[in-house]
Amino acid sequence: MHRFLIERDSTQDGRITVAQDDARHMLQVLRLKVGATFVGFDGSGLEHEIKLTSIDKNRVQGEIIRTYDPGTEPGKKVILFQGVPKMDKMDWIIQKSVELGVTQIVPVITQNSVMQFKDKNIEVKLQRWNRISREACKQCGRVTIPEVKAPLLYRNALELWSEQVKSERNHIGVFCYENEGKKCLKDLFKCYNIDCVNMAGIFIGPEGGFSGEEIRIAEEYHISPVSLGKRILRTETAAIAVLSVVMHEMGEWTK
Ligand code: SAH
Repeated sequence: MHRFLIERDSTQDGRITVAQDDARHMLQVLRLKVGATFVGFDGSGLEHEIKLTSIDKNRVQGEIIRTYDPGTEPGKKVILFQGVPKMDKMDWIIQKSVELGVTQIVPVITQNSVMQFKDKNIEVKLQRWNRISREACKQCGRVTIPEVKAPLLYRNALELWSEQVKSERNHIGVFCYENEGKKCLKDLFKCYNIDCVNMAGIFIGPEGGFSGEEIRIAEEYHISPVSLGKRILRTETAAIAVLSVVMHEMGEWTK
């Protein structure tokens, strides 16, 4: 059955309104008619089976037949702190990490990021990134839409992580640094009882990597870097590879 986004807070009295972009797709591309059934979700954690009851220009309304939890959301929290990469690589990283079950994405502006804080396009990009997150949820069956936060300066991103860990004792920080000579990801996991870890933070640098000063600042926050092996991965490869491994280790790749 087709999945559509419904307007938030439109589920009163068992009736819903389909979000505008989706209504257009529903009518103009899929040509659904009154009486058709479809799946709707508004991003707040549940899914509905819906019967299409009225079409008025591009406004589509429906009646909820049943509401349920499809069980597609991860049980654990994973935040991706991603050094903002060049061009549209962030789009790809967002799409893939939402599919893999990320909880939140924090674009991080580091010394080597091409995007800087005064970038006039930040607002436009942010809207685009959140739209990609919604679309990825629609495609992969998730019912909670991960937020892509407004880009943060590096130190503020570390601050955010240290705030987060205050509320979750069982957490793991995975800070990826290609010049780390001693500790690899496997060593890091050995230090934890990974089944009990409820929250992970993954830090990935942009194309230019983290600077020496940034590594020093991470240490101030008691975050120690890990290596991902002998080869240098592109930033987008590193993000998706680490997220996959962390998800697997945290037991998220089971039915
Ligand atoms: N500019 C650097 C590479 C940066 S790769 C260079 O050419 O030397 C971009 C990001 O991916 C890095 O900041 C790091 O977070 C991650 N990464 C890539 N390969 C890695 C590896 N082998 N070990 C740890 N992190 C890695």
